[in-house]
Amino acid sequence: SENPTALIMIFGATGDLAKRKLFPSLYRLFKRGKLSERYCIIGVARRELTNSAFQESVRQSIEEAEGHHDDLNEFITHFYYHSHDVTDSSSYLALKTLANDLDTHYQLEGNRIFYLAMAPEFFGTIADHLKSDGLTDVDGFKRLVIEKPFGHDLPSAIELNNRLRQAFAEEEVYRIDHYLGKEMVQNIEVIRFANAIFEPLWNNRYISNIQVTSSEVLGVEERGRYYENSGALRDMVQNHMLQMVALLAMEPPIKLTDEEIRSEKVKVFRALKSLEGEAVKENFVRGQYGPSNKNNEPINGYRQEPMVKADSNTETFVAGKLIIDNFRWAGVPIFIRTGKKMATKSTKIVVQFKDIPMNLYYQHEKTLNPNLLVIHIQPDEGISLYLNAQKSGDTMNATPVKLNFSNNSVDHMNTPEAYERLLYDCMRGDATNFAHWDEVALSWSFVDKISQVWENQQAEQFPNYEAGTMGPKAADELLEKDGFHWWPVE
Ligand code: NAD
Repeated sequence: SENPTALIMIFGATGDLAKRKLFPSLYRLFKRGKLSERYCIIGVARRELTNSAFQESVRQSIEEAEGHHDDLNEFITHFYYHSHDVTDSSSYLALKTLANDLDTHYQLEGNRIFYLAMAPEFFGTIADHLKSDGLTDVDGFKRLVIEKPFGHDLPSAIELNNRLRQAFAEEEVYRIDHYLGKEMVQNIEVIRFANAIFEPLWNNRYISNIQVTSSEVLGVEERGRYYENSGALRDMVQNHMLQMVALLAMEPPIKLTDEEIRSEKVKVFRALKSLEGEAVKENFVRGQYGPSNKNNEPINGYRQEPMVKADSNTETFVAGKLIIDNFRWAGVPIFIRTGKKMATKSTKIVVQFKDIPMNLYYQHEKTLNPNLLVIHIQPDEGISLYLNAQKSGDTMNATPVKLNFSNNSVDHMNTPEAYERLLYDCMRGDATNFAHWDEVALSWSFVDKISQVWENQQAEQFPNYEAGTMGPKAADELLEKDGFHWWPVE
């Protein structure tokens, strides 16, 4: 069938996200024949720009990401610019006229996608005006794509959501969690539900624990001002980490539709055991990186970064033990950890299987290694399975062997980027890989109870991990209490 057509309006079209991700992704969709021949993009931002200057900036950002291509000349003629301060009410009518004209010119069937690639404080205002000034009065579909963060806590998320929902129905709101656009995050479902050797084992009888790590090497860079009010819990755990946990823990959906999948994910969030007071201290660890001077290379601690308070109480690292209180997962801890200025950049999931009931083999007096299934999300993409086998000539001993599938060998131009998939899904009206309001609300209510404890008590021990390491000692002790340890994520 033909690709759906729509007018795409990008608010914040001179910003970093538009340039680095959205324009290159649109071009890649075009290259792959996944964009309708009738397409049109309006860039909206505050700066004064002519259409042709805007088109040149679009060309430049695509060339930076994708190199030079002859068809770019034609591609960028479909881009238009509207200079507009989103807080200025008088400017929306001109935007509406432009949109209606282009709708007619390109025969876009009255389909509209509004992509808000701007600071979240503007989301509500823009949505109000889109409705009150009639930009959402269309014959076709209307969809709102909204970047993170979705609120700062549950009350502010509710307020934002109520406001957006005056203009858009829930099924018209596409809340971006770009982790859900990643190839290997989408693969969690396939690995689980398309393999006879995993699904029967995917429960508390055979799995001992699951570990989800997302570590960054970079610090806060220039984002100190934002990060001081956010911290790792809000920036990473509320959205990306809990989304991965939901995909790992959900029941098989009845069908692979967005409604069915999201309803199973919501049940995971509902089963997530809520932590309060002392339980927060027992099950969650916060960290903040301090300076380091390895190999005589001085690295700033978090408190030395620009726009960060000298006695900052903000966490740059979180480790936690999650309990999913349901039949499948009772007794199986799911450990998560994420942080900045860690030793490696890596997002990985390790599923550790229980030991077999009786061990007949010894490996130099040591016990057997457990079976591990490792899902590599980024930068490597792939799956590894650790088994025990006999090495040739070495009788009666079992040695760990690793079966490896790497997705990285696939030509890079051919693996779609997260934003490319998400844009395409939105155009097709498939909301599977976006966060539903119920998921957002439940994950905020989980996270808020932890923030309350942490915000009410200055972390005396900060900074508590050296830049360039895998986090504070307490994060290791969290697993040791249960007889586990973090598997390395080299
Ligand atoms: P940015 O600061 O680079 O760009 C902001 C854009 O908004 C610019 O085009 C600016 O002209 C425009 N703008 C600001 N005030 C305006 C006004 N009053 N009227 C009209 N236009 C105005 O921001 P960004 O990094 O592109 O981020 C945008 C959103 O995407 C944020 O919500 C951010 O959290 C989210 N996000 C960004 C990234 C990224 O890689 N940059 C990743 C994930 C999420």
